[in-house]
Amino acid sequence: MLAEYAVRVENSRGRRIPEPPHRYRNDFQRDRDRVVHARAFRRLEAKTQVFTHRESDHFRNRLTHTIEVAQIARTIAAQLGLNVDLVEALALVHDIGHPPFGHAGEKALNAAMRRHGLYFDHNLHALRIVEDFEVRYAAFRGLNLTFEVREGIIKHSRDYDPVRYPELAEYLLDLRPPLEAQLIDVADEIAYSTADLDDGFEARLLVLEDIRSNVPIFEKYFLEVEKLYPDAPDKLKFNEAQKRMLDRFVGDLITTTQQQIRRADLRGIDDVRRHPERLVTLSAEVDEERRITKDFLYNNLYFSPTLDEEKDDAEIIVASLFQYWIDHPDTLPHPYQQKAEQEPLPRIVCDYIAGMTDNFIFEQYDKYLVESR
Ligand code: MG
Repeated sequence: MLAEYAVRVENSRGRRIPEPPHRYRNDFQRDRDRVVHARAFRRLEAKTQVFTHRESDHFRNRLTHTIEVAQIARTIAAQLGLNVDLVEALALVHDIGHPPFGHAGEKALNAAMRRHGLYFDHNLHALRIVEDFEVRYAAFRGLNLTFEVREGIIKHSRDYDPVRYPELAEYLLDLRPPLEAQLIDVADEIAYSTADLDDGFEARLLVLEDIRSNVPIFEKYFLEVEKLYPDAPDKLKFNEAQKRMLDRFVGDLITTTQQQIRRADLRGIDDVRRHPERLVTLSAEVDEERRITKDFLYNNLYFSPTLDEEKDDAEIIVASLFQYWIDHPDTLPHPYQQKAEQEPLPRIVCDYIAGMTDNFIFEQYDKYLVESR
């Protein structure tokens, strides 16, 4: 069933430490399962996507977002004849390196690191998690994932300059990632741009009239739905319109990518890797609709006064705890103190904070910076 340009598990470059094959699960299925059983994966449940867990149990968190990305990516992969097992592993692992408090946490952590001449990058952090921090197996540290999953963790959403990142040389930085990895980035965009409309509306931070007048593709479907179900409540009309948007984005991604694949005349995975651009894309028209949706979300949701206040709190908590542990490394958990003997302290503090859930970092803040005052 696999297309000739798909990644084949039997051609995998393999694991760092070779392991005997499993009786009935192939290596990409095993990688997917290792991700699902990882501690960092379970913590996604208590990490912010857009809204912190304290507001409501109905909003997406990083875990449910991740599951939505996996669902969308699997659907697209199957239509394109790609390796669904690899796609699923990559989708499930794609946000595993995210710190608490969503993008605000990431920004604050990066700013704190920059003061020490370092930086925080969630893809690189995800690689550290699967290579080192997960301790589950007696034979090795980390999850010992296949090359293709580690490569996808790094390369799914951006390119890394081989000159600036010599430590990543093994990941073929001058070549494009396989279509399975390229797909994750667009599936992620589709997932959150439609889901955040939903959560924003549910949270009453987005108003139906504003969505209708600022997001033309939503309005087009809303009018269609109003004709079909004139008596339905607004929330159901909203759902129907949002669902149609999601279906349009996914359908367009499939057909546009099929056209690109035909045009590029791909004979195998090497043609994908050597192609000058990424081939998994939306059409210009639908990409513009996605961009308008995203701009609307930035202006009306992500930068809304309600969320701004929350983001300010997040930045204060991350920045002040970071400084606290730089000043008092003896209060770090013992394994982190040991690690600080081999790596710069700011990196170790960053690793510690990045692994935290929203709940845990709140507790730490109360413990070290509120109660001790
Ligand atoms: Mg994501």
